[in-house]
Amino acid sequence: MGLFSKLIAKVKGGGSSASDWNELELALIESDLGAKNVAEIIELARSLEKSRDVESLESALTAALTKWLSPSNRDLAKHTERLTTVLVVGVNGTGKTTSSAKLTNFLKSNGNKITLAAADTFRAAATEQLQTWGDRLGVEVVTGPQNGDPASVSFDAATKAIAANSNYLIVDTAGRLHTKSDLMDELGKVRRVIEKLTPVDEVLLVVDATTGQNGINQAKIFTQSVNVTGLILTKMDGSARGGVALAIERETGIPIKFVGTGESANDFAPFDAPAYLSGLFEG
Ligand code: GDP
Repeated sequence: MGLFSKLIAKVKGGGSSASDWNELELALIESDLGAKNVAEIIELARSLEKSRDVESLESALTAALTKWLSPSNRDLAKHTERLTTVLVVGVNGTGKTTSSAKLTNFLKSNGNKITLAAADTFRAAATEQLQTWGDRLGVEVVTGPQNGDPASVSFDAATKAIAANSNYLIVDTAGRLHTKSDLMDELGKVRRVIEKLTPVDEVLLVVDATTGQNGINQAKIFTQSVNVTGLILTKMDGSARGGVALAIERETGIPIKFVGTGESANDFAPFDAPAYLSGLFEG
C-alpha cells in the first residue's frame, strides 16, 4: 500500500478526530519521511479535509513532493571518447562492494566494457568479494595487497582500464576508517591519483535505506567533504520504509541515481522518480 493512501482515505472520509491525525502522523514518521516533512504534509491534508477535496490534495502533494526531489540529472555520466570513472563511496556495510558489482553488471549489459578496482584494501574480505563478482560477471578486477595503499590500486586500475580501452572504471573504496578526516583524506588522495591519468566523473555515495535518519546523516557528512554526484540507495527491499528516498533528496539535494533491491546482480535499477512518486499514492 502506498505511503499516502491512508492520508487520502482520511480526507475523503472527512471528520477525522485529532487522535486520528496523530496516529496518521506517527505512521508517516515511522516511514522515515522526517518529522518536518510529515508536519508539512499533515498541515496540507488538514487544510483540505473540510472540502474532502482529494483531487486537490493529490495534486498539491505531488507538486510539493516533486519540489523536494532533486532537480539534478539522474543519468550516470558517460563519455564516449574516453574512459568514464566512477568512485563508489560510503560507510562499510551499506552495500558498497555489492553495488559496485551490480553497477558493473548493469553497465555491462548495456554494452559497456568495465574495469573494476578493489580499492577497499582495509576490509578483510572486500577484495576477495569483488574478485568473486568480477569472475562471475567476466570483468577484470584490479587488486592490491591487504592493507595496501588504496590510491596505488586505483592508479594501477586506471592505467589498466585505459590500456584495455574500457568504457568505465568503477572503484570500490574503503569505508571503515577511524575518523572522518582520515576517510576524506583517503578519498581525496584516491581521486587526485586517478586524475593524474583521467578525470573522475562520478562519486556515488551508497546509503542503506534501512538505516533511516542515520543514513541521511551519513549522506550529509560525506557531501560536506566529497563532491558526491549521486546516491545509490540500497536495501529498498526488506524493511526499508518508503519515505527515506524523499527525505534524503530534500535534505541533501543529491539525486538518487540507482536503487538496490536485493543481494543478486539484477536487484538493481536506475531510480525512477515519477514511478516512485505515483507508488506513494497507490491504494
Ligand atoms: P560494503 O561493506 O559496504 O561493501 O557492503 P557489502 O557490499 O559487503 O554488503 C553488505 C551486505 O548487504 C551484504 O550481505 C550484501 O549482500 C547486502 N546487500 C547489499 N545491497 C543490498 C540490497 O540492495 N538489498 C539487500 N537485501 N541486501 C543488500
